[in-house]
Amino acid sequence: MKKPQISSRNSLKTMHKNIYLSLGSNVGSRKTNLLKTLSLISGASEVLKVSPIYQTDPIGFEKQAKFLNMTCLVFTSYEPHDFLKKLKDIEKSIGRQKSFRNGPRLIDIDIIFWDNDVINTKALTVPHPKAAQREFVLRPLARIAPSFVHPILNKTVASLLKSLEPQGVRYFTKAPPIKDIIGIKQKRMEKAP
Ligand code: ADP
Ligand code: MG
Repeated sequence: MKKPQISSRNSLKTMHKNIYLSLGSNVGSRKTNLLKTLSLISGASEVLKVSPIYQTDPIGFEKQAKFLNMTCLVFTSYEPHDFLKKLKDIEKSIGRQKSFRNGPRLIDIDIIFWDNDVINTKALTVPHPKAAQREFVLRPLARIAPSFVHPILNKTVASLLKSLEPQGVRYFTKAPPIKDIIGIKQKRMEKAP
């Protein structure tokens, strides 16, 4: 049974949106960074699906550690820019420092799709403009949303993935069950003074 969604800002279930996120880490305990991030995201939204974790050769700036990447489906009533702000706060709380484009990072959270919406503002471009060319986004995404249709390109995630040349993305490990991921946060909160 799904818990009723209660929000003082917006209690209309129809206003909730399906959001696909891409997570990546190549500094520190990469898998722990991904799972902690998911548990924090579950505090701001409902995490419905998580993909397995893939290991990816770095692109752009190649002299750095390999990335671990995964995707998830979340359900939220937040407005896109407010949700982006939440995600940036989560990146900071995990310990992300300023780096450079394509440089090493503890955690990167990108919004890939916001239902079928197309968003073009200074702060936010959705669908994510590089998603359709990145195997490290599409391969894990194809595990949770192969039939999702890119709202601009009108192609499914599976067909976009098929059209890519290999980019050094390999299966790494499965993700724990969602209830255990959320448990990471609860355990941490229980320990807090
Ligand atoms: P990148 O992910 O491109 O390596 P950052 O994570 O530092 O770099 O993000 C840079 C900026 O990209 C963010 O401050 C954010 O406002 C903007 N941005 C635009 N579109 C998106 C999106 N779809 N998902 C996440 N951030 C986005
Ligand atoms: Mg980013």
